[in-house]
Amino acid sequence: MIPRKKTRRLMVGDVPVGGDAPVSVQSMTTTKTADVDATLAQVYALAAAGSDLVRITCNDTEAAQGLAEIVPRSPVPIIADIHFQYRLALAALEAGVQGLRLNPGNIRNEEHIKTVAREAKDRGVPIRVGVNAGSLDKDLLAKHGAATPEALVESALIEVGYLEEVGFGDIKISVKHSNVPAMVESYRLLSEKVDYPLHLGVTEAGPPPGGLIKSVAGIATLLLEGIGDTIRFSLTADPVEEARAGRALLEYLGLRERKGLDLIACPSCGRAEVDVIDVASRAQAALEEERLPIQVAVMGCVVNGPGEAREADIGIAAGRGKGHLFIKGQVVRVVPEDEMVDALLDEARKLAEEGIEARLAAADARAAEIAAATRVQLVEIQGDANRAAERRARVAEVAEQGSMGTAPGR
Ligand code: SF4
Repeated sequence: MIPRKKTRRLMVGDVPVGGDAPVSVQSMTTTKTADVDATLAQVYALAAAGSDLVRITCNDTEAAQGLAEIVPRSPVPIIADIHFQYRLALAALEAGVQGLRLNPGNIRNEEHIKTVAREAKDRGVPIRVGVNAGSLDKDLLAKHGAATPEALVESALIEVGYLEEVGFGDIKISVKHSNVPAMVESYRLLSEKVDYPLHLGVTEAGPPPGGLIKSVAGIATLLLEGIGDTIRFSLTADPVEEARAGRALLEYLGLRERKGLDLIACPSCGRAEVDVIDVASRAQAALEEERLPIQVAVMGCVVNGPGEAREADIGIAAGRGKGHLFIKGQVVRVVPEDEMVDALLDEARKLAEEGIEARLAAADARAAEIAAATRVQLVEIQGDANRAAERRARVAEVAEQGSMGTAPGR
């Protein structure tokens, strides 16, 4: 488990953020907020994809009115995104939102910020101070010459100061930058100065795959250092993708319990006995629908597949026109190649219901034998990928020389 920096804990609706709360996933709708049905449909899709919190823009009166209908029907807490007009923050609070995000770069009047903070405090609603390199306060930009990590942190701390002056403490902070090293440095700097929970993100990351890579690089680096309490992938894509990616990242880092499928697959090579990309894609599509919290392996050959994927709960490896279905590295069934995906799906369901021990006990007694014979055949045809026999002989030779007090030659 990654040790995390201790931060204060606050509640966004019923979702805890900071302290020892699990790192949460956020995403943002792309619909017009005034279109209540379309926005709610997207909120539900984001929640189903792993978003614990959803942010919705509140950019005009109609949007605020839309929020009044969306919030009570939403499956997850709603955070209103506010730029320029502090009155829309007050309207969003009136609409019942569970969180606010204010951009210090474009709501600059101290009294306006304090008015919003007083109202939020009365309603028990937290505020995120959301600094963005692209919309940094002009004075700070002039002072620092660029949107440097120091400039972003200074902007956040000025805004936090306004909130603290009116006794407001339910604060989250973000200092997003589109440049990954600058983003990482900004959060490191901020984390040294405050114990408020931090919301991580690489802003304007762009479409996948680049946007995903940038987001993972920045967010994962910080999470592995124990920094960060809530995250968002800002992708130029269907927001469901960013929710899925955020959730998956936390699961891969061991920061959230696995809810769904973890598909591992070999990259394929000249030894592959099957089109691994095709089988893995079909297996992923079929298994994702099942929403089983298991790790599944798809391996291109039985020579190395079951052994290399022995940590997976279940897997399949191809060999001589057959699929070798294995559980924890032990082959339990051999099926025709064209039934590989169906067999994998069937066994995954049974595994989820009955458990590993029961499924190993139900293994086809001949399966391991068939698998061993196929492996020998393939090694004969293709050669031993690991040159095991050669290596064993060489190891014995070195050990023998060592016992005779002779330095091994090369
Ligand atoms: S499992 Fe087999 S096909 Fe896949 S990469 Fe390894 S040796 Fe190649």
